[in-house]
Amino acid sequence: MTSTDPLDAPPAQPALTDRAPLCGISTQEMGNWLSRHDHPAYRAAQIRKWIFGRQAESINEMTDLPASLREQLGNDFDLFSGQLVRHQVARDRTEKLLVELVDGRQIECVLMRETSRWTVCISTQVGCAMGCVFCASGLLGLDRNLSRAEILEQVLRLTRRLEPDERLTNLVVMGIGEPLANLPALLGALEDIHAENGLGISPRRVTISTVGLPRGIRQLADVGRPYNLAVSLHAPNDELRNRLVPVNDQIGIHAILEAADEYFQRTGRRVTYEYVLLAETNDQPRHARQLAALLSGRNAHVNLIPMNNVDVLPWSDPGDPQTQRFSTILQKAGVAATVRKRKGADIDAACGQLRLENLKN
Ligand code: SAH
Repeated sequence: MTSTDPLDAPPAQPALTDRAPLCGISTQEMGNWLSRHDHPAYRAAQIRKWIFGRQAESINEMTDLPASLREQLGNDFDLFSGQLVRHQVARDRTEKLLVELVDGRQIECVLMRETSRWTVCISTQVGCAMGCVFCASGLLGLDRNLSRAEILEQVLRLTRRLEPDERLTNLVVMGIGEPLANLPALLGALEDIHAENGLGISPRRVTISTVGLPRGIRQLADVGRPYNLAVSLHAPNDELRNRLVPVNDQIGIHAILEAADEYFQRTGRRVTYEYVLLAETNDQPRHARQLAALLSGRNAHVNLIPMNNVDVLPWSDPGDPQTQRFSTILQKAGVAATVRKRKGADIDAACGQLRLENLKN
């Protein structure tokens, strides 16, 4: 791997169209635009309500705006900057969208349904630089960061898929990319997601998953919002982690745990450690015991993730009995552990897979 700073990523590129995405316009920018076009300032709140509350699919639908304003908006803006190129619905009603961005690159996002819990999973980058060996998202490296509007667009497109008796309750940043390498854009999008006149989702219902970048974790703590932090550990020692998560050789488990402990102290939020179980690799009882030794005494929770098959990769899921054995060892050692439920298995809902399939074709 390269030895560049893992927090550095190519910036989002300027739009290739004349029209800006309306969903990403700040209230301030909207106010300026309205005054330049001689419309009253209160129209900004109406437009915002159509985008975040009333789930408009187009500017034309914003029927309480004068036709002239709608026309002018249409000249300068598109509601979203991307195009929906594929939409899949799984038997368990998990939905996955493949969105093509203005520059032709593609990203994925997913809506998961449980009883009284509706969660969206979003991407923060096109590709990923971290190089985890079992992950479809990073196989071809990193193209670029997503913009704040491109991050918001995913959430807004997915909330438009909800039925009238459903509502968005949770958001996980576990799609394509490393969120802490694109923190300013992500935090910008999250402000609209939290705002009362946005989607009204509390930071406590947002989980940000990271490969474990200590400086990024501290920057996230600095934000002062009670986000849930999930750290993708995947191995209980540096030798194994260096093999599975190559960026680890610049970081090391010790530095990650230290930053995560600090995150817990400063935010009061219990840290989750994600651990993808790979048959015959990191799934043995000795790995579970070593992981327990690492985490016991910490206010931590382990989320065991059965490996999702990626065609071109050699790794496989060890199966339920091995997964249960691993979980039991952790629990007996006093470390809270749960096994992640698989959602949308029949549509390959694990992020990065659709995009990869299209890139191959
Ligand atoms: N870059 C962030 C977000 C990645 S996706 C991070 O590393 O946490 C969220 C989780 O899915 C991570 O824990 C990631 O390691 C895991 N993951 C990646 N590929 C997977 C696969 N094929 N099967 C199961 N989990 C996978």
